[in-house]
Amino acid sequence: MKKYNFNAGPSILPQETIDNTIKAIQNFSGTGLSLMEVSHRSKEFQAVIDEAEALFKELLNIPEGYSVLFLGGGASLEFCMVPYNLLEKKAAYLNTGTWANKALKEAKLFGEAIEVASSKDANYSYIPKGYTIPADADYFHITTNNTIFGTEIHEDMDSPVTLVADMSSDIFSRPVDVSKYGLIYGGAQKNLAPAGVTFVIVKDDILGKVSRTIPTMLDYRTHIKDGSMFNTPPVVPIYAALQTLKWLKALGGVEVMYKMNKEKAALLYAEIDRNKLFKGTAAQEDRSLMNICFVMNDEYKDLEGDFYKFATEKGMVGIKGHRSVGGFRASTYNALPKEAVEALVACMQEFEKQH
Ligand SMILES: *Cc1c(COP(=O)(O)O)cnc(C)c1O
Repeated sequence: MKKYNFNAGPSILPQETIDNTIKAIQNFSGTGLSLMEVSHRSKEFQAVIDEAEALFKELLNIPEGYSVLFLGGGASLEFCMVPYNLLEKKAAYLNTGTWANKALKEAKLFGEAIEVASSKDANYSYIPKGYTIPADADYFHITTNNTIFGTEIHEDMDSPVTLVADMSSDIFSRPVDVSKYGLIYGGAQKNLAPAGVTFVIVKDDILGKVSRTIPTMLDYRTHIKDGSMFNTPPVVPIYAALQTLKWLKALGGVEVMYKMNKEKAALLYAEIDRNKLFKGTAAQEDRSLMNICFVMNDEYKDLEGDFYKFATEKGMVGIKGHRSVGGFRASTYNALPKEAVEALVACMQEFEKQH
């Protein structure tokens, strides 16, 4: 039976990414060796990382003065590297969910880190609005897409201080005005590559302003200077990321992807709103295009397990909601075809007819 992969992360990748990476694992770039057994300093791999960096810059329209890095440690290590490199007196955080919270918690280890606004009062079902970003903060940190709660900041905001964003789960899903950000980071395993590589887009001139000593590996300047090759980078995930970037470019780039993502999300949200059995959990205007959360309507609560079983039998994979929200979550990342959303919608309609 055909499987539809709605996993939240690690998650679906383009078939081309998987196929091309398999080929390179068998014979990398005509070397007769596996991608896993060649030097990261070989000219063949240097070409891979150079092209990945160039495509990052091209696809996201990254202005001059920014560096693109491929690091280890996941987005979670960035929670620590960001304050290590940027927090001198005070940092400001927007608390929009589990990951935002973890980032804030880490910053508090380094100095004053304040929560500017939070949507914890309603289980993070909306994005706070009408707050003021403190002008005396070293930076303001946001999580553009809240993978667990299914909310998303849809616009690139203006910030009076350096804007830092965790874009783990919505990078390349829409055009981004990178010039509004000082630093953007994320784990690759949601929309780009298998787990193991972390991308960082950093404006060079925001660095070198803190007085603390930064361990070499945690200093962004180390990795800028050595082109992400201070130590051995995650070679296989970087290769896979390049395949996804090429796939994205061939499809027409982030504008086209954004249009497709909006169509997929609209289809599923429309069904959630129409179907008597289900309701969405996120505030309408803040609904994520990447992670679509829904629960059973109150009077059908006890059908939750049945629907999960029904959908699983029809090939839906990874639709169980995170335990902090419950219900269901369908992740509709770039690589998920519209056909998968149509299959899920058909499943919801069929289940409704039975009840
Ligand atoms: C998954 C996720 C993380 C954690 O990423 P790791 O690479 O596992 O550390 C952080 N932030 C967001 C928004 C995520 O979706």
